[in-house]
Amino acid sequence: KLYNLVQDLRGNIRVFCRCRPMGITGDQTECCVEFGEEGEVAISNKGGNDKRKVFKFDKIFDWSSQQDQVYCETQPLIRSVLDGYNVCIFAYGQTGSGKTHTMSGTDVQHYKGRGINYRSLDDLFQIKRDRADEVTYDIRVQMLEIYNEVLRDLLTTDPTKKNRLDIMSTEKSGENVPEATQMRVDCTDDVLRFMDIGAKNRAVGSTKMNQRSSRSHSVLTVVVDGDNTVTGVKSHGCLHLVDLAGSERLSRSEATGDRLEEAKHINKSLSALGDVMSALAQKSNHVPYRNSKLTQLLQDSLSGQAKAMMFMHIAPESSSRGETLSTLMFGARVS
Ligand code: ADP
Ligand code: MG
Repeated sequence: KLYNLVQDLRGNIRVFCRCRPMGITGDQTECCVEFGEEGEVAISNKGGNDKRKVFKFDKIFDWSSQQDQVYCETQPLIRSVLDGYNVCIFAYGQTGSGKTHTMSGTDVQHYKGRGINYRSLDDLFQIKRDRADEVTYDIRVQMLEIYNEVLRDLLTTDPTKKNRLDIMSTEKSGENVPEATQMRVDCTDDVLRFMDIGAKNRAVGSTKMNQRSSRSHSVLTVVVDGDNTVTGVKSHGCLHLVDLAGSERLSRSEATGDRLEEAKHINKSLSALGDVMSALAQKSNHVPYRNSKLTQLLQDSLSGQAKAMMFMHIAPESSSRGETLSTLMFGARVS
C-alpha cells in the first residue's frame, strides 16, 4: 500500500486554531469567541465601540472537536515522514489553553483521550507493519526539554549524565544533539514506557511540576530510517512534536526574580520561532535560525522540503481576551 502524499500537502506551513471548551479551568467569565465559515474565528468586542476582530486560518477546531478529528488533519503529514520528509508540529498558546491536550492528550490510558504524540506513533507502527514485505523501518524517539535556553535530555536513565546538551550541525535531521538518548520503539507499550521516563525526568529538579512544564518547551522527536529491500531505496525522515512554553505575558506583580528570567527566555524563543516561521512563509532567503535554542534544534527540519503545522490554542473566556488576541496575531503572522 502506497500513500501518495505529496499532492495532499498544500504549501509548507499550515496554521490551525483550536479552542478548548468553556469553564474547564474554573474561569467564570463569559465567552468572547465565535466561529464563522471556513476557518474564521472572531473575538467579540469588549463592549463600547471596540471593534470585533476576525482571523482566518487553514482550519478551526472548535470546542466540540475531538482528538481523532485533530489527528485526521495531521495524518498525511505524519505519514510523509516515512517517505523521508521532515515535519514539525507545534502547539502554541497561553497556559491552560489546551496545548498538552492536543499533543499528549488527557486521560491517555483510554484511546479517546490520546493526542497527536501517541496517535502518530501508532500510525507509524501500523504502516511499518503494512509495508513489512517491502520496506524495513527503524523508528527511534528522543525527548528534550528547553528551559531557560538550556537543553535537557528527558529520556536518560543515567542520573550522572551531563544534562546540558549541545547542538551540533549535522547533515541528517534529528541527529544534531549527539548526546541525547534515542530509544527504539516498535509498539504502543514502548511508547507508554518512554513517556513515563520522560515525565519522571521532567519532574526532577522542579518542585512544582506543572509550573515548570508550562515554562519550558518539550520536543518529542521521532526519527525514521527506511530501507526498501525491493528497490534498494533508503529514506530518512524526522518528526518533531513540540509542546511550547506558555505564551502569556507576566502580570506586573509577577515580573521579578526567577519568573522574570523564565519569561524573558520564553519571550525570546517564541519570537525567534515567529521570525523563522514568517521568513519561511514568505519564502525569504534569510531565515534567522540562530536566535534561540529551539530554532537551532529544529533548523534542519524547518527548511527545504520540510513541512510545518502550527496549532494556535485559545481559551474562550473573556478574561483571556488579551492573550487570545496575541495568540491569533502570532498565528496570522506565520500563515
Ligand atoms: P496547556 O498545556 O496549554 O497549559 P492543557 O492541555 O493542560 O493546557 O489544558 C488545560 C485543561 O483543559 C486540562 O485539564 C485539559 O485536560 C483541558 N482541555 C484542554 N483542551 C481541551 C479540549 N479540547 N477538550 C477537553 N478538555 C480540554
Ligand atoms: Mg501544558
